[in-house]
Amino acid sequence: MAQLALETPLFEIIGARAPFLRRLEKLGIKTVRDLLHHFPVRYDDFSKIYTIAELEPGQQATIQGTIEEVHVRHSFRRGMEIVEAVIADQTGSVRAVWFNQPYLANVLKAGRTANFAGKVSVSEEGELYLSHPVHELLRSDGRTTTMRHTGRLVPVYPETRGLTSRGIRFVVQSVFKRDPKLVEWIPDPILEEFHFPNIDDAIRHIHFPDDIEEAARAKTRFSFEELFLLQLFNIRQKSKLAAQKAPAIATDVERIKELLAQLPFELTASQKKSLWEIAQDISRERPMNRLLQGDVGSGKTVVAAIAAIIAADHGLQTAFMAPTEILARQHFETMKKLFVRFENGDARNRPPVGLLTGTNAVVFYEKDIETKVSKAEFREKAESGDVKIIFGTHALIQKSVAFHKLGLVIIDEQHRFGVRQRAELLGQKTQKGTKVPIPHFLSMSATPIPRTLMLTVFGDLDLSLITELPAGRKPIETKIVSPIERNATYDFVRKEVQAGRQVFVICPRIDPSELSDSPDIRKLELKSVKEEFEKLSKKVFPDLRIAMLHGQMKGKEKEDVMKKFAAREFDILVATSVVEVGVDIPNATIMLIEGADRFGLAQLYQFRGRVGRGEHQSYCFLMADSKSESANARLKAIMEADNGFELAEKDLELRGPGQFFGEAQTGLPDIAMEALRNPELVQGSRAAALKILVEQPTLVKYPALRLKMEAFSKKLHRE
Ligand code: ADP
Ligand code: MG
Repeated sequence: MAQLALETPLFEIIGARAPFLRRLEKLGIKTVRDLLHHFPVRYDDFSKIYTIAELEPGQQATIQGTIEEVHVRHSFRRGMEIVEAVIADQTGSVRAVWFNQPYLANVLKAGRTANFAGKVSVSEEGELYLSHPVHELLRSDGRTTTMRHTGRLVPVYPETRGLTSRGIRFVVQSVFKRDPKLVEWIPDPILEEFHFPNIDDAIRHIHFPDDIEEAARAKTRFSFEELFLLQLFNIRQKSKLAAQKAPAIATDVERIKELLAQLPFELTASQKKSLWEIAQDISRERPMNRLLQGDVGSGKTVVAAIAAIIAADHGLQTAFMAPTEILARQHFETMKKLFVRFENGDARNRPPVGLLTGTNAVVFYEKDIETKVSKAEFREKAESGDVKIIFGTHALIQKSVAFHKLGLVIIDEQHRFGVRQRAELLGQKTQKGTKVPIPHFLSMSATPIPRTLMLTVFGDLDLSLITELPAGRKPIETKIVSPIERNATYDFVRKEVQAGRQVFVICPRIDPSELSDSPDIRKLELKSVKEEFEKLSKKVFPDLRIAMLHGQMKGKEKEDVMKKFAAREFDILVATSVVEVGVDIPNATIMLIEGADRFGLAQLYQFRGRVGRGEHQSYCFLMADSKSESANARLKAIMEADNGFELAEKDLELRGPGQFFGEAQTGLPDIAMEALRNPELVQGSRAAALKILVEQPTLVKYPALRLKMEAFSKKLHRE
């Protein structure tokens, strides 16, 4: 019989009318390949067959016995049908119970022998029984067929309504019987070096392992696959980029010193180092691709702004992009402030800057004069090169503006733009059909990224780190507030407001997994912010001025609220987490986070960074309702951390990388995300990828790997 191609649609295996088919599709499983890559989440150990006398309460066990009687009864009280069977072996008998599966009565006939695997429970009368066991009938000649569900390590899959692991096991087993044609694409030397099973063994072992070690080895191989491909992709991306041409912006040390001398403060040591790394990078002809990482308030914007001024010195434009309009405006304002400080200097220190937003706010700033111009006029200025530094959201580069000579692209909080957009940006080679030099690229992030992620998801970027805050900042006092301390905390809030300070209240995050039927998170978050707003403005602080901010408001409305808050027209701002409360409000001294245990550490850390930006002592209150140990361990971690990177590692450890990015896309499947917890595998995949590309830059000797790479790159670009 010919081997089964991986592209084969599943209906050819189980029939187009199989009830499973639609449900498998719901899980995104359409072909043999999809199915084989739908990996178990865990295994139940039914490998030993117990005698009935051996059963212990709470155990997961398989027994083998004869069905003595079966009956169905209705429980009117609970409104369901209950199937009960009595199973006997040489050592005794035991009851098995199933709810709402009346068809079982037609399958489990008295007199048949079967295996039953499930949990041993105790009834109210103290009698042991098996609750909801899976069964496998034995052949009448007493010999066993291949066991799928009992008498072995049994895979448990991610399930969907109406499709249990039992169903999935059945289909997987049917596919294995047809001998699926898997192609090994990991080069032999790598399989040997890492002691990985080959692809045929690995795929069988991950579904039906003989023991748990076998399953683990298979799983490691599949994690490695993704990391390895990603590393290959990154290394190639890097060398492709290195072959591109960017405008070389010569470093003029005297000029940089002159600019720095105008600042009202001295740059911190790591700001200086970062600026130097950036200056070095852009002085080369190959495009910079660098991530500037530092806590909120560590002074990234200043460093980036100086780079933009240096580019302008050379007649080059800078696109300065932020994820939201509010943040774009904030950067624009920072630049203007910087210019005010540069007032007495050279006119070159103040190149024309502009702000372009989707809500038609188009501003152009030159020589102290801020003018509103039409979009058309603004575009002309951009295209003619009159405006040198342009602030906006990422829409800026994707559609709205043609640049005269774009030399530098700066993106704030770029991980939200995702891997694909980054590639897209760097791939912008042609404007109006002609080949132009591609711009240098600087990405800024306040989200501390653990090292393993840095080496993988962001592996194509060089890194500059700002590790310290400017001198003189007071550390923010952080406190976990238990329910009984709530009122005292509100009193404290009132005192701060009376002293003239302002307060952020963040509403709890709504976890989509808690919602089964109504996935509209935004609506729910809106509800939660409205309720909190009502509560605070009517009951708790009727005397204070309170505003609210949420994701369903229009850009203009949001900006209005933020502007008024910045102008101290409100005392308290109640906001959802979806809203970027990124505007710099040095007068805000309290960050109060409701449902703090629902947020990731990195996110909490970010929130906290919104206060403590001025001269006043600031506070962060983590309102904890959960009694769960792990939730409190996480909150403790944020209290103890004064370093975002340390915290990021902890977050990764406590929750895994899937949580780390929240909604953001990393382009990695779960199994690779899991692998990020394994630094050795990350390092190993990197070393292996480097080695193979050094030997075989085009991978000629490894056609299967090459094909796999192509598919992987396509996937990343598409996402
Ligand atoms: P980030 O972008 O990293 O959040 P910013 O660049 O916005 O930080 O800087 C935060 C604030 O600190 C700004 O008001 C900025 O002028 C100020 N600042 C930046 N660097 C220094 C420094 N070295 N010393 C004192 N203040 C600084
Ligand atoms: Mg910033």
